[in-house]
Amino acid sequence: MSEGFQIIRGGRLLDIAARTAEFADILVEGNTISAIGAAGLAAPDGAVEIDASDRMLMPGLVNGHTHGNSSLAKGMGDRWTLELLLNAHPWTGAGFTQEDKYLAAMLTACELVLGGCTACLDMFAEGPAPSREGLEAAGQAYMDVGMRAVVAPMMSTRGLWQAIPGLYDVLPEDMRALADSLQAGPGSTSIEICRDALHHWPHDPARVKLALGPTIPHHCDEAFWHACRDLAREYGALIQTHLAESKVQAVASQKLYGKSLAAFLDDQGVLGPNLVAAHAIWLTRDDMRLLADRGVSVSHNPMSNLRLGSGVAATVAMREAGINVAIGTDTCTCADSLNMFEATRLACTLSRVQGPDYEQWLESAQALEMATEAGARALGWEGEIGRLAPGYKADIVMLDLGTITYLPLNAPVNQIVFAENSGGVREVMIDGRMVVEGGRILTVDMDKLRADVEAAVARQEPARAAARERVESLAVHVGPFCAGFAAQDYAVNRFVG
Ligand SMILES: [Zn+2]
Repeated sequence: MSEGFQIIRGGRLLDIAARTAEFADILVEGNTISAIGAAGLAAPDGAVEIDASDRMLMPGLVNGHTHGNSSLAKGMGDRWTLELLLNAHPWTGAGFTQEDKYLAAMLTACELVLGGCTACLDMFAEGPAPSREGLEAAGQAYMDVGMRAVVAPMMSTRGLWQAIPGLYDVLPEDMRALADSLQAGPGSTSIEICRDALHHWPHDPARVKLALGPTIPHHCDEAFWHACRDLAREYGALIQTHLAESKVQAVASQKLYGKSLAAFLDDQGVLGPNLVAAHAIWLTRDDMRLLADRGVSVSHNPMSNLRLGSGVAATVAMREAGINVAIGTDTCTCADSLNMFEATRLACTLSRVQGPDYEQWLESAQALEMATEAGARALGWEGEIGRLAPGYKADIVMLDLGTITYLPLNAPVNQIVFAENSGGVREVMIDGRMVVEGGRILTVDMDKLRADVEAAVARQEPARAAARERVESLAVHVGPFCAGFAAQDYAVNRFVG
């Protein structure tokens, strides 16, 4: 956090609701916006002046769902469904050391801030179970880069092979030992690790806080859900899970529980304002009403949903039901860039294939509100980030009005949502501290980061090659089985329910 005053002069302040960008100065005291006023706003003696001429000032984007561990695995798969991606985890995470966890989270954080994202919910995966050291290292990477994050350890009590009814049975006898070796660790161990990590969390929770990430409802047994629920209550922690991301999951839930995944989670007592459900594609209207009644937030991750062929989330219907819908990028193995401008544009445009009534489509201003304020609400930072207003934290993105995207500047919100690709991001202030300036990150030696990443991947290569072979021998069974499983008749209308 910065001490003293800073005065940002000469910029155009984006007003999302009014769709305007009028000239305004912003006075920042420490890490907080203390005043916003017309050009020439009074500032105390000694205030550091920041020249924002030719800049448009907007709130930092808030990313509702990513996985910071995956950044070293960019581009490793092509025609992967979600289940093939899950099957590939031993490959995409092969050879990871403790240092690699920090490195991957740092690479994630750098890509996010350079793209105008100032806070994220990172469901951080370690195999086979989370570790206090790994979580603290991921948190340290976000602290060092200088962005906000919620770190939610990804956990399960069942592997893919145990979670999808019938999948294990199609494996040839001689391959079952391989699938058995991928079984998740006991839930009680993960819970104790999380309790320890929550109790000793070393980072400022206003900047980087710890949450829980039971990964997929039916990949976690009921006792584990209850333990996550109770631990989250005890520490006031958020929970993130992937909810009804693929049709395979929706069908599996009917077979396992005779009800939807949302109804199953409600039975476990985990639906509440501290739950952020990622994806939420295969929901019914009843599911949506349930999530809205319980105050659950959803993170809509459109690029990942398209890339994995998971479907198109019914964002219009979810918002109509009263759900707080945020936007996320998801991760480098399925999105693949961590670009919140791209995710916001897709969220807006994909609402327009959901029905002919254009008055139901998301407006650009609504999409941008989802990517800022709705994200802040989901991450438990409502009223603190997601807006530029007195009393809010100084998380400010400055876009270059000299880029061709804004030549000419006719309609700021439309141009940001429909045309910005993060190429216009020049400065990023987070918590009152300049993290990006002139398009370059100030907090990280990017040359060293590049060398460290390349060295890590070279070191991982033998482990990757061995894991790839194992993963591909399983993929030939996972892929066709899941395609058939998902083709089963199951009444979910992806747009309306
Ligand atoms: Zn995910």
